[in-house]
Amino acid sequence: MTKATILIVDDEVSNIEIMNAVLEDDYDVCFATSGQQALDVARAAQPDLVLLDVLMPGIDGFEVCRQLKSDPLLADIPVIFTTGLGDTEDEMRGLSLGAIDYVTKPIQPAILRARVGNHVELKRLRDQLASMAVTDALTGLNNRRYLERSLQTEVGRLARTGEWLSVIMLDIDFFKQFNDTYGHPAGDRCITMVAAALTRAVKRASDLSARYGGEEFACVLPDTDPKGAEMVAQEILLQVQSLNIPHERSQVSPFITVSIGVASARCSPGMSAERWMSEADQQLYASKRQGRNRISMAEFDCGEEQISAVN
Ligand code: GH3
Ligand code: MG
Ligand code: MG
Repeated sequence: MTKATILIVDDEVSNIEIMNAVLEDDYDVCFATSGQQALDVARAAQPDLVLLDVLMPGIDGFEVCRQLKSDPLLADIPVIFTTGLGDTEDEMRGLSLGAIDYVTKPIQPAILRARVGNHVELKRLRDQLASMAVTDALTGLNNRRYLERSLQTEVGRLARTGEWLSVIMLDIDFFKQFNDTYGHPAGDRCITMVAAALTRAVKRASDLSARYGGEEFACVLPDTDPKGAEMVAQEILLQVQSLNIPHERSQVSPFITVSIGVASARCSPGMSAERWMSEADQQLYASKRQGRNRISMAEFDCGEEQISAVN
């Protein structure tokens, strides 16, 4: 496991030295000696925990804490205030600003080590939970919840410039028969391999692939017009075919295939993410009806829709 990173903030270097001596063996430690520097280092290093002095010239610890907690990229980092003994009011104020704990100065090494250890462990578990909530356990792809949330965000973002956005949905053909023939564990392995093929086909950093349901997957392709989406869909067909997973009861091929539906539109304000999903879903079922192992595409705008079969 990689070491957690701790940011120590204190305008007195001797305090930093004392805390560093306690923590340096177990953590990657970085430092700041002012409030502004603390915010800069926090943004750059994304620490797992901040030890924050209250009294500092310029931006004090309370203000640093407030700014950390109001930045979505930094808000989840636990903050432990380091306060003088008996500063009950400071402790109350720190906790009310979202700090998770406090330690008193002069620092007692065993207490500091224990509190930091507890909060780093809790942070790790929180991160793990947050990642599990958006990940499909079988394939490691994003899950449906994450896809739908991201799609909504992308539609909103691209509506400002009227850019294209495409959604691809795909579903493994005759998968029930695959399970019946080769067994459920083999079915699971097949789903995992199709997920890997999908990842190979969908390459841009801003693209997103997800397991949408059982043997169904979806991709969100921002800034991608119908031509671009068609190329990605072709590549998905190709990557799945080249897995060469035998499927003796498929009626379209001796190997595993997928059917694909693509929906593309220029984003405009007020358009709903669900429209892309339902259009892509309709195209997917058109591909199924027309014989499977193929792509169907639709272009739509706020009102109209234009359909084209690809192969
Ligand atoms: P079509 O070509 O029309 O898509 O036919 P199909 O048999 O693939 O479609 P259907 O939706 O009838 O069946 C999907 C099957 O996928 C049913 C279910 O047993 C299987 N399935 C769904 N989720 C999983 C899973 O996580 N693991 C395995 N092994 N099978 C799954
Ligand atoms: Mg299927
Ligand atoms: Mg299905």
